[in-house]
Amino acid sequence: MGWLGLDDTDTLTDGCTTYTLHRLLNALPEGITASNPSLVRLWPFAEQRTRGNAAVAVELSTEDEPRLMEFLEAYWNDYLAPLRGLVSQSDQQRAQAPTDPGMVWFSERPSSSDYYSRAVRERVTIDEAPTPTLKWGGKGCIGAIAAVVWPKHLTTWEAIAWRKEERWSGVERNVCTMAIEHVSGLEKTFMTRDPTSQRSLISPRGTCPVLFGVRGTSQEAAEMAAALLLEAKATEPIISMRVFQTNQASDDHLDSILSSTVKGIEVLRRGTTKIETEAGDWMAFAESGDVKLMAQSLQPGDQIDVYGLEASPGVVHIEKMRISYAAPLKVRPTCTACNRTMKAMGTNQGVRCPECKAKQSKPWSEIEREVALNVWVQPPIDARRHLARPLEWDLHHSC
Ligand SMILES: [Zn+2]
Repeated sequence: MGWLGLDDTDTLTDGCTTYTLHRLLNALPEGITASNPSLVRLWPFAEQRTRGNAAVAVELSTEDEPRLMEFLEAYWNDYLAPLRGLVSQSDQQRAQAPTDPGMVWFSERPSSSDYYSRAVRERVTIDEAPTPTLKWGGKGCIGAIAAVVWPKHLTTWEAIAWRKEERWSGVERNVCTMAIEHVSGLEKTFMTRDPTSQRSLISPRGTCPVLFGVRGTSQEAAEMAAALLLEAKATEPIISMRVFQTNQASDDHLDSILSSTVKGIEVLRRGTTKIETEAGDWMAFAESGDVKLMAQSLQPGDQIDVYGLEASPGVVHIEKMRISYAAPLKVRPTCTACNRTMKAMGTNQGVRCPECKAKQSKPWSEIEREVALNVWVQPPIDARRHLARPLEWDLHHSC
């Protein structure tokens, strides 16, 4: 019994890490059994990330561990080591670092490790990781180890189907639209379809072996959804399908809530909004929908709570936000006699009516703003991270 972890095997020809693991599991010698594999998303800003920054792990049971090690050694040398240095072309919009695959074996799973919770929230190195029983390869070992030690506090499931090899180099995927619509309406599936645009969210856009990955809050739901999609005539044939237990929709990447007072906002390109707070700069990105709109409505003095990721020291990328206090709007008072807006006479001198010259010592009137207090907002469904937990699931955020 032990744990195998694998990461950073994405290349154009050999596909994504989920498919690499699937093939490895199919090639296991007789007598070795595998549990449901894990698909673990890690810190989104990690350098040299693979697509979606995911690593995989699986528990293997065997009476003959030396034989399994022999198999892993041979499999590594024949299939995985040669991937080193290849560049994935699956996502042309993003600069991809050359593949540096890693594989690890733990005869016993380290029980008390915070390596996962750190690897999902910040940059980690291999030196800080628990030491595997055996280890092959390079940088990929970081994610591989994190996937093995993932404690599975909050989990969801994803059923991944891989398309025929001759289709890998194309970006078009045929998955029955009606079946997607049906599956998206099931109670325990999520992130299947964008409710606004009706666009399917289950297929990647680039060139890779994945036909779709359909998500569920239970293993049965993910399996049933995949079966429904695959039964449909309009769905193209596949090589195989496998269900992964995942940390998607766990919010594991988010630290505790941040609260601060707004000093000012700056609207940047495409509406991206920088909120200057007493605790540093918090960013609401152009794609973040309601988060960006809320950010643009802020006034100095407002108090806000956010969940987000620290991209660099002091700079937080907001993922969830609410306003806990809205500073009243300050306007010049109106003259009670002639209804004109009064004007300031000078520093600490009060205001005066330009018409009847009436004076008033209080230079500002305060107007309450129409702001929904303590209402959390999140980015639209297609702009959320794999790790983001939908607000509507949450109880601990609704305080
Ligand atoms: Zn007046």
